[in-house]
Amino acid sequence: MPIIGAFLMLLGIILILFVIFYPSGETVSENDPVVENPDQTISVDPTPEKTPEVAPELPQEEPENAPADPEITPEDPEPVPEVTPEEEKMTVDTSLWNLILVNPDNFLPEDYSFEKEQVQGNYYLDSRAAPYAKQMIEDAKKEGIDLQICSSIRDVDLQTRLFNNKINDLISEGYSEADAKVKAATIVAVPGTSEHHTGLALDIVTPSYQRLNAGYAETDAAKWLKANAAKYGFILRYPQDKTEITKIIFEPWHYRYVGTEYSEFIMSEGICFEEFIELYGAKE
Ligand SMILES: [Zn+2]
Repeated sequence: MPIIGAFLMLLGIILILFVIFYPSGETVSENDPVVENPDQTISVDPTPEKTPEVAPELPQEEPENAPADPEITPEDPEPVPEVTPEEEKMTVDTSLWNLILVNPDNFLPEDYSFEKEQVQGNYYLDSRAAPYAKQMIEDAKKEGIDLQICSSIRDVDLQTRLFNNKINDLISEGYSEADAKVKAATIVAVPGTSEHHTGLALDIVTPSYQRLNAGYAETDAAKWLKANAAKYGFILRYPQDKTEITKIIFEPWHYRYVGTEYSEFIMSEGICFEEFIELYGAKE
């Protein structure tokens, strides 16, 4: 009996020990796959994470591209019309009658002719410019400004007589004939180079100030002309700050018809006629 009892106790102890230790071994073996699983979940997770990341990126890029294209398309035609008017501005046809350039370097063509029309008293202009001069004088009068013409068309024959008279005067003063011709050219325009030959130039003063000098610029008439002549197609032909280009002294009384299409541009740009022709001129 005591042997059987001891055997049973031994069996009971073994059973208890088995129960205690066996499950503890399983928990260790279960931990390993748990440790491995996080690695797998990490390696697996990025994939599903990347997939949704890529997925929203693609639809984001598509809507960005979609509106970007229509934005570029309307921008393209805009620069085109901007360039076109600039290019049109860049060239004017200098063969037009109202853009003829006559100066010390550009003689009036020998066959040049035009019809004359009276503007004021005995003073005439090219009939295509005369109406604008008359309107200008009339409108100035309404504002209390008296504009008085003192020179208009001067033909080449008259200019030749004036020029030869000056040469003879200088010779009688002791100049040689060669020196007299050079000196005369600095006082009287060489025949063929006076803008008055064109029938488009006017010398305009006012009854209270008829001297042709720089002081005239301070009169109301000169100020009115400088501010308003461009509206009638006339430009101040020999500005004070352009004498090196025009080779003519400042003449606040000398106005030249070019047409309103060009006069307002030239006056607002502050350039002289030589610069205008140089910058924009092109014979067609
Ligand atoms: Zn003049």
